[in-house]
Amino acid sequence: MNEKVLVTRSSMPEFEEYVEMIRPLWESHWLTNMGDYHNRLEQGLKEYMGVPQLSLMVNGHMALELTLQAMGFPEGAEVITTPFTFISTTHAIIRNKLVPVFCDIKLSDYTIDEEKIEELITEKTVAILPVHVYGNICNVKRIQEIADKYNLKVIYDAAHAFGETVNGTGVGNFGDASVFSFHATKVYNTIEGGAITFREEGLYKKLYNLKNFGIRSEEVVAEVGANAKMNEFCAAMGLCNLKYLGENIRERKNRSEYYTEKLGNIPGLKLCARDEENVTYSYGYFPVLFETGKYQGGGMRDFVYDKLREAEIYSRKYFYPITADAACFKNKYKKVLLENARYAGDNILVLPLYPELPYEMLDRITEIVKSCVLSGNGVVE
Ligand SMILES: *Cc1c(COP(=O)(O)O)cnc(C)c1O
Repeated sequence: MNEKVLVTRSSMPEFEEYVEMIRPLWESHWLTNMGDYHNRLEQGLKEYMGVPQLSLMVNGHMALELTLQAMGFPEGAEVITTPFTFISTTHAIIRNKLVPVFCDIKLSDYTIDEEKIEELITEKTVAILPVHVYGNICNVKRIQEIADKYNLKVIYDAAHAFGETVNGTGVGNFGDASVFSFHATKVYNTIEGGAITFREEGLYKKLYNLKNFGIRSEEVVAEVGANAKMNEFCAAMGLCNLKYLGENIRERKNRSEYYTEKLGNIPGLKLCARDEENVTYSYGYFPVLFETGKYQGGGMRDFVYDKLREAEIYSRKYFYPITADAACFKNKYKKVLLENARYAGDNILVLPLYPELPYEMLDRITEIVKSCVLSGNGVVE
């Protein structure tokens, strides 16, 4: 077992299966621009996710950018969001000439603290952009109540929650829109890819134009669009991978349970993934939090990260630094106390998790984590 273990490993179909899938492209010569596979995948995903409307995109980031653009917010308007996310969420706001207003998170599930949203609302606020972190679902009910009260849009970054349901409802049904990523590193991939799900029928046309340069017809360019179309090779990969998704999620679940069994009762170690009965999870990540107090600061998290690295096991510090502290935005936006987000950012480590990860490797990873924590190494005095 001397091979490097990364935090994830892209799911792929059998080589022959993919080749059979792309063979017709050598006949049609239709490689992109809403081809047959693109349209079949949109349909397939709509059914899988149980959503009324879905628009495929070239990646999750452009999906976020174009969703915000489609809402038509005025320049300088404020979007309340979480800093405990992948940098893409915050970049999408700023690249739309909107202003991110960071709201702290809850330590119970690392999603936006819905009780701290209202105090951040001003006359400039137009939307709330929460994230279903690690597949933990935000308090969608309360967030919708706040949005309704102040007439705000709600856009979920659901990149971590693909395939999940709450009380049988697909996670893509919440808010005005939800954005998904099908990047190679996610539970479900189309190599690069993404999608937006929503209810309003008119939005489909709008997004269709925006992902195709704003072109409405051969001679009419109606908007300043982008190029965010998914090509046929990616859509073909998506159609293949969709067949094995259920099996992959089961394999992930088994490994998550194994981790939980091995790491569940260690003082100073907290498992971060939720386990709510009404939610079906897709087990994208296995985050653990090294509690401070006992070890002070981020000492233990970084110590374990280094120890795993020495064994060629590459865990990830998702999300460190929090996006509010990224070099490009530091001190640029409204200052809000982000105590919980910083605490999570300093102390959480995401351990390797993917369908083929051998159980012997899980033993090895959990042994390293356990011995670090139990020996109390990494103490920062
Ligand atoms: C992966 C991810 C994105 C960006 O998606 P890409 O497909 O890589 O562009 C955005 N937000 C979150 C939370 C993600 O995990």
